[in-house]
Amino acid sequence: SHLPDEIKQKVHNHPCYSEEAHHYFARMHVAVAPACNIQCHYCNRKYDCANESRPGVVSELLTPDQAVKKTKAVAANIPQMTVLGIAGPGDPLANLDRTFETFRRLSEEAPDIKLCVSTNGLALPAAVEELSKHNIDHVTITINCVDPEIGAQIYPWIYWNNRRIHGKKGAQILIEQQQKGLEMLVAKGILVKVNSVMIPGVNDQHLKEVSRIVKQKGAFLHNVMPLIAEAEHGTFYGVMGQRGPSNEELMELQDECSGDMNMMRHCRQCRADAVGLLGEDRGDEFTMDKIEQMD
Ligand code: SF4
Ligand code: SF4
Repeated sequence: SHLPDEIKQKVHNHPCYSEEAHHYFARMHVAVAPACNIQCHYCNRKYDCANESRPGVVSELLTPDQAVKKTKAVAANIPQMTVLGIAGPGDPLANLDRTFETFRRLSEEAPDIKLCVSTNGLALPAAVEELSKHNIDHVTITINCVDPEIGAQIYPWIYWNNRRIHGKKGAQILIEQQQKGLEMLVAKGILVKVNSVMIPGVNDQHLKEVSRIVKQKGAFLHNVMPLIAEAEHGTFYGVMGQRGPSNEELMELQDECSGDMNMMRHCRQCRADAVGLLGEDRGDEFTMDKIEQMD
């Protein structure tokens, strides 16, 4: 593949990136980021951000202090614990104080834990400098399109410079910020993974182009995730009957996008407060109630 050895090594040891590693290394998410700065049609704000997580679950919102406590408690109980991610329940970079306070404290108090963050990318360029000061292993950007016409069908609005910007104009700004953020991270040597939500009839064909571009710009991994459209989650407001892709459609697109780039096929779309080895979720053992009782 096109990846340098140093990156291959990192991929090899990361629970999310390597099929094998995910049996031996554990990861956790802490849900410290409630706010979001855009609206995705597939999002229902009552639930976790779909940038990284399966819609329809509600995570326990933590303060940075609780998140640090929780991370330490998990690390003390799950020896394979190697990666801590902030992935919601909103957009981590729309909650800069909470996200960075968590990272700052963890890089000081638990320096062996690798950190990662996922974002829709709108606020990314302004955050790159600060991200580079922490022990950030990688950043995940959710990029669903590079064309504002398509973007307008996915994002009804963004919140930018203190106002809402609708439609194509908003999508255009979001796309520019995502691409700029991607380039800046690559220039800083921070690994970038790209997530895309496959939405049949909206961006399914277009994602091949997205894959080509992000790979060319230096993303090391592309993760195409299925839209999970379930009526009770209210996914795709205003687009009645929008369906998610079938397994076959998803696999076909993943094949078409893969080329010599690493495609991620085992992402579990973990909830914003997932804990444990992939495929297991021990979050219920580490609620704040239970952690308080541990000390
Ligand atoms: Fe929802 Fe995440 Fe989209 Fe924000 S970025 S609207 S939290 S899915
Ligand atoms: Fe890993 Fe995907 Fe789960 Fe994130 S959501 S921890 S990338 S498997």
